[in-house]
Amino acid sequence: MMQIPDLADTTRLDCDVLVIGGGTAGTMAALTAAEHGARVLLLEKAHVRHSGALAMGMDGVNNAVIPGKAEPEDYVAEITRANDGIVNQRTIYQTATRGFAMVQRLERYGVKFEKDEHGEYAVRRVHRSGSYVLPMPEGKDVKKALYRVLRQKSMRERIQIENRLMPVRVLTSGGRAVGAAALNSRTGEFVAVAAKAVILATGACGRLGLPASGYLYGTYENPTNAGDGYAMAYHAGAELSGIECFQINPLIKDYNGPACAYVANPFGGYQVNADGDRFVDSDYWSGQMMAEVKREIESARGPIYLKTTHLPDETLTALENILHTTERPTRGTFHANRGHDYRTHDIEMHISEIGLCSGHSASGVWVDEHARTTVPGLYAAGDLACVPHNYMIGAFVYGDLAGEHAASTLADLEAPQDLPGDQLREAHELVYRPLQHPDGPPQPQVEYKLRRFVNDYVAPPKTATKLAIAVDTFERMHDEIEQMGARTPHELMRSVEVSFIRDCAEMAARSSLTRTESRWGLYHDRSDVPDRDDVNWRYHLNLRKSVDGTMEFFKRPVAAYFVPVPGLDDLPTGGTEPIPVEQPAIARDRQSSAPRTAVAQTPAQPPSPRIAAVLALESPSLDDLAEFLADADPAVRRTAVVALTEHLCDGYADALYAALADDDAGVRRAASDGVRELVEVLPEPVAAQHLVTSPDPVVRSSAIYLLSFRRVGDGASFRAALADPDHRVRIEAVRALVSVDDVDGVASAAGDENREVRIAVANGLGTLANGPSTVRTLIGDPDPLVRAAALAALGEIGCGESDLALIERALRDTAWQIRVGAVRALSGAGDPAVDLLSRALIDPHLDVRKAAVLGLTGWVAQPTAHDALLAALDDTDADVRAYARHALARAAEFAEISD
Ligand SMILES: Cc1cc2nc3c(=O)[nH]c(=O)nc-3n(C[C@H](O)[C@H](O)[C@H](O)COP(=O)(O)OP(=O)(O)OC[C@H]3O[C@@H](n4cnc5c(N)ncnc54)[C@H](O)[C@@H]3O)c2cc1C
Repeated sequence: MMQIPDLADTTRLDCDVLVIGGGTAGTMAALTAAEHGARVLLLEKAHVRHSGALAMGMDGVNNAVIPGKAEPEDYVAEITRANDGIVNQRTIYQTATRGFAMVQRLERYGVKFEKDEHGEYAVRRVHRSGSYVLPMPEGKDVKKALYRVLRQKSMRERIQIENRLMPVRVLTSGGRAVGAAALNSRTGEFVAVAAKAVILATGACGRLGLPASGYLYGTYENPTNAGDGYAMAYHAGAELSGIECFQINPLIKDYNGPACAYVANPFGGYQVNADGDRFVDSDYWSGQMMAEVKREIESARGPIYLKTTHLPDETLTALENILHTTERPTRGTFHANRGHDYRTHDIEMHISEIGLCSGHSASGVWVDEHARTTVPGLYAAGDLACVPHNYMIGAFVYGDLAGEHAASTLADLEAPQDLPGDQLREAHELVYRPLQHPDGPPQPQVEYKLRRFVNDYVAPPKTATKLAIAVDTFERMHDEIEQMGARTPHELMRSVEVSFIRDCAEMAARSSLTRTESRWGLYHDRSDVPDRDDVNWRYHLNLRKSVDGTMEFFKRPVAAYFVPVPGLDDLPTGGTEPIPVEQPAIARDRQSSAPRTAVAQTPAQPPSPRIAAVLALESPSLDDLAEFLADADPAVRRTAVVALTEHLCDGYADALYAALADDDAGVRRAASDGVRELVEVLPEPVAAQHLVTSPDPVVRSSAIYLLSFRRVGDGASFRAALADPDHRVRIEAVRALVSVDDVDGVASAAGDENREVRIAVANGLGTLANGPSTVRTLIGDPDPLVRAAALAALGEIGCGESDLALIERALRDTAWQIRVGAVRALSGAGDPAVDLLSRALIDPHLDVRKAAVLGLTGWVAQPTAHDALLAALDDTDADVRAYARHALARAAEFAEISD
């Protein structure tokens, strides 16, 4: 039997950036940190080559925002809706705007994504709006490709990988993360790591609930993800958020593998009940949909199936080629052993055990848009970090953000020398305690008991009584866990995992008890408080370990939305300060009544009849509207503002300007829309000058729009608006500076962090036909859409010989927008452009060909251009043919006139 190692024999490792977990987010964090010059130590409890959720591959990207196919703002709105409004939109926006560059980076690493016959990414639609699913026909090789990059010589020199080394606690000093204490699960060695920054990327808490099969490791999630990072972040003092919003997924019954509806449904599969009736019309797996699925399974119409038998043979063969090779390659064998075939049998589905996972839901360590937790020096990325519905591409994006930010801090930090002795001692005690009583209850028994309690008392439908029993039980199980026995390093690893699961179970039960409403469909279904309460619970529920070691809760206000989402826009309160929340009392006695926090239930109000009264007014005067504009109900005021802009009664302008300062965001937005609609006719536009300092960015940007459109604003205030915290205001400021021909002002925003602002700069300089050096800098921008806009601007400014090589390269870029930009750049070039434009006429993307035909129109008198345009008359696209015909006709007219 293994002996307890002496604490004095602790092995010490040093690095700049410590990455814990070598899965999706962790590998990307390590690569990016190393690319930025950091010495990285990557610790993985399994083996990086084939660990984590990607281990068996991935059959598609669930959330790729591909330029030209979807808009980041639409994605942000979709995820805001899917999450019932409780989101920090800025964190989601990062995934939306950086996902495409990540897809391209992965392509460079050798990962394959599905493309159509034009070489375009073949995104499919499963969400309620927008197409974000990008299949990966060879997704089984993702981890292999990543590992190859990690092991390239340049990376090997900077990234030290230690497999089978499992951190159990993050070490802190003066409130800052300075390293970790770890167990080697092969040798039993105790290891202390000193680091300037620590990135947690340990994935979901997949071993929280017990699968219906009863197998401890037969979970939906990768079973090595036992909630380690959630527990480590908690004990390091970091905030966690939305822990009551569980992950529950659709499954293949008895197999516990994903149902893969995202793969099958775009091919024509769908969910039916036992009567063969389709019962959900959206394919997006939200909590609402999971509630419907559970109801259907438990009803007389259950069980439910993934219907495939109606699909043609070639479709099913294509499906099998994906489903039986990636994610769960045993799937084909599972069906075969039962004598099932997609041609003859629809596939019975079920729902998974509960887990914590932001990748599929929303529960995680609280992070900002740079993956920073609330503990300085500690980052979180991937399923562990609270960025809702972030999935694989979000894990990569946040790994990248964490790696980049962590590396950027190194120069200002001293390497930790002495590590905190008391914390090392506690971690040592936590790891090796089971060796003190090797005959104590073994880990599988204790874990089974713990997780069965999770199923019985924490899984939805939840009630205060059941949750109180759960809290009581998990507290009691502290002692049982302390009595667990182990004899080998491997058993020690498993034992400490049980302590992580216990911590997560307590957080899940207490959070669920504290949020006294129902939200997110099945994920937080409180059958004792079944309604959503948008008055008392329009907040994130966050928790952390207090100084006295107890779990404390507070509400964090939802940050102001920068993408409006009708129906949810009133959720952000405008506040920023956390609000402490008392946890409901835990009733420990069967006789006492179940704990109830008296949350005032505000019944849903029907729309005010006064809205109808406004709408009934035929040609209202300002006097008619005055009482509605001052109504207590914002919906009535909103309607009155819309009526103002429709009827333009005498004196309407002052009322419209006044509505821009209304207390309600919806009223202000209606007034802003009115200003934009009436921009040409609004009297006294100068009255909007003071609104450029409004607290509402929607109002600020409308004011700048009005002032610049009517040419009454001053350049200095437009320049000042470039420093606005909201990117929409900065975009408007750039456009305003264009309107006053302020080239330097426009160019000064070229380094803006927001890509839409940089695109506005490129477009603006193109309009001004000026700022060549800035435009050339933007051609090297990391974002493809900025590069595309800058190339187009070069066409307006005029490009020289020296630009041709760069344009030629851009014409071969994989992003069609860049190829369009390159074609437009050529319109500013001399004669060498003709040859390149003629070649662009065979581009697979019709927008590139269209742009090329337009470009060639200027040279139609040249024989090469003329011949190319003649050939374009046979193009498969009607627009391209029409443009070519038009160009040739003009050339003929011109020739006649010259004759
Ligand atoms: C079955 C399944 C199917 C999915 N399908 C899709 C899909 O089709 N499309 C999509 O976009 N997304 C999909 N996802 C989601 C996506 O895979 C995840 O969101 C993403 O991979 C999570 O990355 P991560 O780095 O957070 O976790 P992981 O990739 O799981 O990495 C976590 C790593 O941390 C290690 N670790 C854990 N604890 C410790 C510790 N204490 N010390 C050291 N190492 C530790 C683990 O061994 C693991 O390697 C799927 C997920 C699952 C589980």
